[in-house]
This record gives sequence, structure tokens and C-alpha cells, in this order.
Amino acid sequence: MRPYTFFERLSKAFHDSASLSKILVVSTISGGGLMVYSEANASYSNNGVETGTKRKKKVVLLGTGWAGASFLKSLNNSSYEVQVISPRNYFAFTPLLPSVTCGTVEARSVVEPIRNIARKNVEMSFLEAECFRIDPGSKKVYCRSKQGLNSNGKKEFDVDYDFLVIATGAQSNTFNIPGVEENCHFLKEVEDAQRIRSTVIDSFEKATLPGLNEEERKRMLHFVVVGGGPTGVEFASELRDFVNEDLVKLYPKAKNLVQITLLEAADHILTMFDKRITEFAEEKFGRDGIDVKLGSMVVKVNDKEISAKTKGGEVSTIPYGMIVWSTGIGTRPVVKDFMKQIGQGNRRALATDEWLRVEGCDNIYALGDCATINQRKVMEDIADIFKKADKENSGTLTVKKFQEVIDDICDRYPQVELYLKSKGMHGIADLLKQGQIENGSNKSIELNIEELKSALCQVDSQVKFLPATAQVAAQQGTYLAKCFDRMEQCEKNPEGPIRVRGEGRHRFRPFRYRHLGQFAPLGGEQTAAQLPGDWVSIGHSSQWLWYSVYASKQVSWRTRVLVVSDWMRRFIFGRDSSRI
Ligand code: FAD
Ligand code: MG
Repeated sequence: MRPYTFFERLSKAFHDSASLSKILVVSTISGGGLMVYSEANASYSNNGVETGTKRKKKVVLLGTGWAGASFLKSLNNSSYEVQVISPRNYFAFTPLLPSVTCGTVEARSVVEPIRNIARKNVEMSFLEAECFRIDPGSKKVYCRSKQGLNSNGKKEFDVDYDFLVIATGAQSNTFNIPGVEENCHFLKEVEDAQRIRSTVIDSFEKATLPGLNEEERKRMLHFVVVGGGPTGVEFASELRDFVNEDLVKLYPKAKNLVQITLLEAADHILTMFDKRITEFAEEKFGRDGIDVKLGSMVVKVNDKEISAKTKGGEVSTIPYGMIVWSTGIGTRPVVKDFMKQIGQGNRRALATDEWLRVEGCDNIYALGDCATINQRKVMEDIADIFKKADKENSGTLTVKKFQEVIDDICDRYPQVELYLKSKGMHGIADLLKQGQIENGSNKSIELNIEELKSALCQVDSQVKFLPATAQVAAQQGTYLAKCFDRMEQCEKNPEGPIRVRGEGRHRFRPFRYRHLGQFAPLGGEQTAAQLPGDWVSIGHSSQWLWYSVYASKQVSWRTRVLVVSDWMRRFIFGRDSSRI
């Protein structure tokens, strides 16, 4: 709820009497003050003594996923009015979607209405619609409702903004392989997981009907997973558990007919994990009877068969009952279109700076899977860095002088610290020495611009691209909300690093990602965990860690209670195989 303006409070006190309101306006003006009242907001000042509510800045937020929801959950400044636009009116806890496909967790346990997520003191409204065009020129977004027509007979409308936050995520990538779109299941949304769940049950019901031959039954119970990333691997393990722990008891005839195949184009599955985890997962899948076919690139899918090419160029065709396609993400049409408009047409995701501002646009931010941060390179700014450090313009730089700006440099270019760490260097002096030795000089460290260039020339090799994960999206949402909260304050007292190419300081410190580790559940109550510092743990103990982390990361107490009770229900009664 938006707080009442001064005018509204008084009007209310006078029982909304129009004539009394008029008297009020007239008497205020005659008192020397000025009152301006508009439908949406009010600006009020009285003899310059009291400044009332300012016009609220309108933030339009596109998307209610990890990035959008965490922005909304953290924003805590009542001077904004937030208009959320998304085709779904809830947040979905995606890491539990593979569990939804087999009924380990129910769909409603992993979602939270977006209207519950915003803080009470922030004025928020929601429109269930899809944005199909962004116009930075007129500061408008154009949207289409999924619901029926509105009173004007139109489904389309536009919304204007002061700030736009784009958090529309990404879509499944089919790489334009023929037949994928039409015949495969994706696992991206809650509806996808629900569809997979009922298709699995359908397959078992169909395969046990009379009048089918053995070959047809086998085909119907052949489940193919394409993509050996965390989602594909987790789904394959969930499905295997569902089949072995629950379904074969209910469908004993199907026991020897079920087959799960995982196709991966690369040489290993879970390539983003430590080698120990990859090896363990491949061995475990071998023992569990999941057929992992590495180096298999899918080339075509029809309604009954999937064809894959091996590295040697042979194409083999296998009959299937159901395929789950999980090979990575692609750009959404609205983002692609916007990127073309702003000259980023050749990229995969919206490029932003380290403050999550879309490059080349004013007041537009992008975060989560739809965006990537374009980290500024040290070598692009090396001449300006030298000038900033060499305050007296002497043409040479000592370690001491460089030390004065080093904190700002490390803040602005995180690759410097990563480089020092990767080379086992203790401080910037070690790095600067490197430049001198390469130039054959042995005198006490004092560098000219060329020597500084040679010292820092390798540093940019440590620029890291952030993965498209919920962890990144959520941290970006929180970061951006904190920036919005302190926008005015930091305008006056900037707290970021010094501007290398300009004067003064940046308003905020740049976004910095903190990796908290990642999990790969492998079925049979075993999980692989890779925590910061390359700490690897695999087995039952990590499964308990997984349970506790995922319970603690829920967005609300309601979903936390639902998820934990689903897990307990599954322990006691098994998964439900009714197709509803
Ligand atoms: P999303 O969460 O995808 O949200 C995008 C939002 O934008 C949605 O609300 C969507 O409805 C909305 N939207 C779409 N189009 C429009 C439009 N035109 N206009 C307005 N709104 C629009 N990450 C991890 O870190 N750990 C995990 O264990 C993990 N497991 C995963 C398991 C699965 C099955 C999947 C699919 C993903 C998993 N991820 C995991 C990745 C993680 O879910 C994504 O990285 C994360 O969701 C990205 O957040 P986002 O807010 O950018 O996008
Ligand atoms: Mg999400």
C-alpha cells in the first residue's frame, strides 16, 4: 500500500467532502503555499519550509525469476513505485524442478506468489503479461497479456518507466536441430516438470496395455535425456530412483523393459564440476544401469526415433518413448530484438557494465540469465591508470605511488587480485617487479608506462564470465536493490572506486559474485558437492547438506514447510504415481 499523501489524509479526515477539499486547496494557496495534486502522486511544499512527498520514481521490473524476485525481496526504499511485469505471477525455485518431475516434491511446494515477495513498505503492483518490445527512446515497454481482451478490445498495452530492470531469463536452446521443438520435453518451467511427470506415468500405463509386442513396450519405456549438465544428470538420477523405488513395484511387468539413456556431445558429463565428481558420476550411472553415451551429438528427432552422430561421424538411430532436452540456454526473442536495437545484435546475452547497467542505455539494468557483465580490461585503461597513479606527472611510477591507488584498481578490475593469486604473488610489488625484470632492469622498482604495460599485460587473462545460475541471478538482484535503495545517498557520497577515465568516484562498488559452491544430486540419496576452495565431497553426507541448503534457501517459510514435508512424505510413503 502506498502511504497517504498529506492531501489525502486531510481529505479523509473531512470524509472526502469535495467542497471541503476545495476550501482546503484555496486556503493553502492563499496562505502562500503551493499545492499540486495529481492522480498518481503528489508534490507539496509549504513556504519552502516543509517538503512533502516527492514524485515516486517508477521502476519497471520484467520477470519474476531468481533475479527479479531477489530484487523485489531486497528493495527497501519507499521512494520507488515498482511495476512488475511477467507472464507468470509466481517465483519458482528451479533447483527443485527435477524433483517435481517425479513427484518427490509437489509443484505447489516450489512456487511462491510474487505479490507475497515484495516488502510491505514498497509500493508494488503486478501485471501478468509478456513484454514483447522495449523502446529506450520513449522509455516504454510494450506488453501483451495472456488473459482475454481488456475493455478496449486489446490484449496489448504499454507501460512507461523511469528505470527499467530486465530480468527475463533465457529459454531452452534447441540449436535448430530438426524435430526437437516438436518432440522433446524441456525442463525450464514448473509446467514442463508437471508435463514430464504425467508423461512418465503415461508411458508406464501405455506400455502395460494388452496387444503390444515386446519391442513396442521397450520403446515406450525408453527414456532419453539429452545433455549431461547438472539438470540432465539430476533428472536422469531422479527418474532412475522413481523407477527403481516406486514404479517397478507397481508395474512388475515393466521391470526388465525400462531403459534410461543419457546423450552428451562432449567427452564427459558434468564438465563444470571437478574431475573427481565427473568420474564418480559416470561410474555410478554405469552401476545404476543408466546408459551414458558420450560424444553423441543429436542431429534429428522424429516422433518415435532420435538420431545421434558419434565423433567418428556414424549416425545411429534409437527408438524412444520420451525425450527430455536439456542442453543449455538461448536468448529470448524480446531480448534479441532489444539487443539489435542497441547495437548488440551479435551477442548471446545483453552486455552490461559491472554495475549491471545495459551498455549504451540510460537507466536500463539487466541481470540474471539474460545478461552478461562485460568486465572492463586493465589493458584498455592502462594509460589512464598510469596517469591516476602518477599524480605529479613525473613519467615514472614507484611501488609506493601505485600502492595508493591499488585498492581502487583491485575494486574496479577484480582480475588483478585473481592474477596475483594464480601466480602465488603476495602483493602488487611482486607484479610490478615482473615488468622490470622483463625489461632487463635491476634498479629499485620504478616503472615507466611501457614497463607498467609489460607488468600487467597478462592480468586480463583472469577475467571470469559468470555462469548462468540461480546463485548469480539472486546475488545480482540483491546487489541492484541495494544500489537502488542508496541511489540518492551515494549520488552525494559516492562509495565506489575512483573513476580511472574521469573525475571523482563511481557511485557504487561494482557487483562482485561470491561463489558458494554447487551440488549435483546423483540419486540413491547420494550427492556430489563442490564447495569453495575446491573442497569436494560425494556421498550420503552431502545429500544431507543438500537437504539443509535447499531447505534454507526457500523464499518463504510456507514453501520451506511444504518442501520439507514433501521430503518426509516421500521417505514414509514413496512417490505418488497417480496421473492427475
Ligand atoms: P528465470 O528464473 O528464468 O526468470 C525469468 C523470468 O522472466 C520468469 O519469471 C519468466 O516468466 C519471465 N519472462 C520471460 N519472458 C518474459 C517477457 N517477455 N516479459 C516479461 N517477463 C518474462 N541454478 C543454480 O544456481 N543451482 C541449481 O541447482 C539450478 N538448478 C536448475 C534446475 C533447472 C531445472 C533449471 C531450469 C535451472 C536451474 N538453475 C540452477 C539455473 C537457474 O534456474 C537460472 O540460472 C535462474 O533461473 C536465472 O534466473 P533469471 O531470473 O535470470 O531467470
Ligand atoms: Mg528462476
